[in-house]
Amino acid sequence: MPEFRLYNSLTRSIEPFAPADGATVRLYTCGPTVYNPAHLGNFRTFLFEDLLRRGLRMRGWAVEQVMNLTDVDDKIIKRATERGVSITELTNPVVETFHADCEFLRIQRAEHYPRATAYINEMIDLVKRLESNGVAYKADDESVYFAISKFPEYGRLSRLDTREIRSGARVSQDDYAKENAQDFALWKAAKPEDEACGAAWDSPWGRGRPGWHLECSAMAMTILGETLDIHAGGVDLMFPHHEDEIAQSEAATGKPFARFWCHGEFLLTDGAKMAKRVGNVSTVADLREQGVSAAALRHFVFSTHYRKQLNLSGEALEASIEAVRRVGDFSDRLARERAGNAALAEAADTLLIEATAALSDDLNAPRAIGALFEFVHASNRAFDETGSDPSALARARDAFRQINAVLDIVPDRGTDDAELAGWVESQIAARSTARANRDFVQADEVRKALEEKGIAIEDTPDGTRWKKIR
Ligand code: AMP
Ligand code: ZN
Repeated sequence: MPEFRLYNSLTRSIEPFAPADGATVRLYTCGPTVYNPAHLGNFRTFLFEDLLRRGLRMRGWAVEQVMNLTDVDDKIIKRATERGVSITELTNPVVETFHADCEFLRIQRAEHYPRATAYINEMIDLVKRLESNGVAYKADDESVYFAISKFPEYGRLSRLDTREIRSGARVSQDDYAKENAQDFALWKAAKPEDEACGAAWDSPWGRGRPGWHLECSAMAMTILGETLDIHAGGVDLMFPHHEDEIAQSEAATGKPFARFWCHGEFLLTDGAKMAKRVGNVSTVADLREQGVSAAALRHFVFSTHYRKQLNLSGEALEASIEAVRRVGDFSDRLARERAGNAALAEAADTLLIEATAALSDDLNAPRAIGALFEFVHASNRAFDETGSDPSALARARDAFRQINAVLDIVPDRGTDDAELAGWVESQIAARSTARANRDFVQADEVRKALEEKGIAIEDTPDGTRWKKIR
C-alpha cells in the first residue's frame, strides 16, 4: 500500500501521516455552534471529516474522534437573549437536529461529543495554568486575556506577519479579523445578559464564562491528551480560532498541540461562502424536501477535492443523483450475479489499487470516484460476457465494498425513499397475486401504474426487481 499522506496547514505541505502510537489516530474536529441547525456549508466540512475518518480506518488504524458541541459563545447568548430562553433551552433541540442530520448524511459517529458547558472546570484549570505560566492576565474589565507577546510562536499557523500583532491591545469577541491580532479573552467577566440566560459560572476571577477558543483546547486535551494526531475544521477557523487554540494549549503544556492541522474549503452558493449572515444557506431539511438522497449529496461533495472551493448548484446535484443511481444499479447487479470471469477479477484489482492510492494521496476522493466508475463500466462489460468463476465475483464484491465503505455512495432505496419503496413493494405484491390468479389484465394495469410513477420492473428467477428510471 502507498504511504498515507495529508496536507498539513502548519507546514503548508503534503506529508506522510501515521498516528504517533502507530495504532490509534487521536482526531479532534471542531463541531457546530448549536444556535441553529447546521447548514450545508457546515456539513461540507463535517463530510470532509467523515471522509478523513473513513480514510484513516481504511488504512487499518483505529480512530478516536472528538467532535465538540459549542453550546456557549457570543452567538448563542445573543440568540437566547433575543428569544428570552436559557442557553440550554436554545441549544438542546439544535443538538438533536444535528445528530439526526449527521445520521441522515451517513456521517459516522465520533467517539465523543462533549458539550462545552460540561467542561467548565477543565477550562478554568487551563486558565489557571496559563496564569501561573505568566501568559494570562486579568484586565480592568475583569476578564482574563492571553498575552500574545509572551508566546513568540503566535501566528505560526495562519502566517501572521508579526508587525500585525498589536501588543497589549485586546479583543473580547469570540470571532475577529486578522487585523485584530491582539490579546484575546480566555475567561469573560459575566454581563447581566449572561447571567439571565444561564451563561455564567463561578471562577477564581469572579462570575464569568469561557471564551470560544478556550473551550476547544480544554475539551481536546482532557479527552485526547496534550498532543493530538490531527486537528481539523473549516478554513475559516484557521484564524483566530485555531491560532488561539494553539497558543493556549502550547503555552500551558510546552508540547505541540496537534501534529497535523487539516482544513476543508468552503461550500459556496452563487460564488459566495454559504453563511447564515449572507442569507444564502440551505439545510439538510431542504435537501430532503427536494428528494436529494444522502448518497447523492456525498457524491456531490466528494467529487471535488476537499481543499478546493465547491459551488452548490441544481445541475451539479442532478448529475450526482444520476451518478449514484448508476452506482445503485450496479450494486444490485453485483448482488444478483452468480459468477464472474478474468476481466471482472482484473477490474476489481485495479479498483482496489487505484482508489486506495487516490484516497491515500491527501484524500483524493474525486480520483477514487473516477476509479469506481471505471470499475462499474468494466464490470458491467465483464458480466455481459460469460462467467463461471465465483471467486472473481467475490473479489469484485469485496473491492466494491471496501471502497464504498469510505465513500458510502450507494443510494439506499429503503431509507432514502422509504415511502416510495413501500408503495412499490405493495404494488409488486398486488401484481404477483393477479398473475397467480391468471388475471393478466390486472397485472398489466399495475405495471402501467408503476411506470407512470417512473418505476420499471423486471421479472427474474429470484422474483420481481424494480428500479427508478426517472
Ligand atoms: P460553526 O457552527 O460556525 O462553528 O461552524 C462549524 C463548521 O462549519 C466549522 O468547521 C466551519 O469552518 C465550517 N463552515 C462554516 N461555513 C462553511 C462553508 N460555507 N463551507 C464549508 N465549511 C463551513
Ligand atoms: Zn474548535
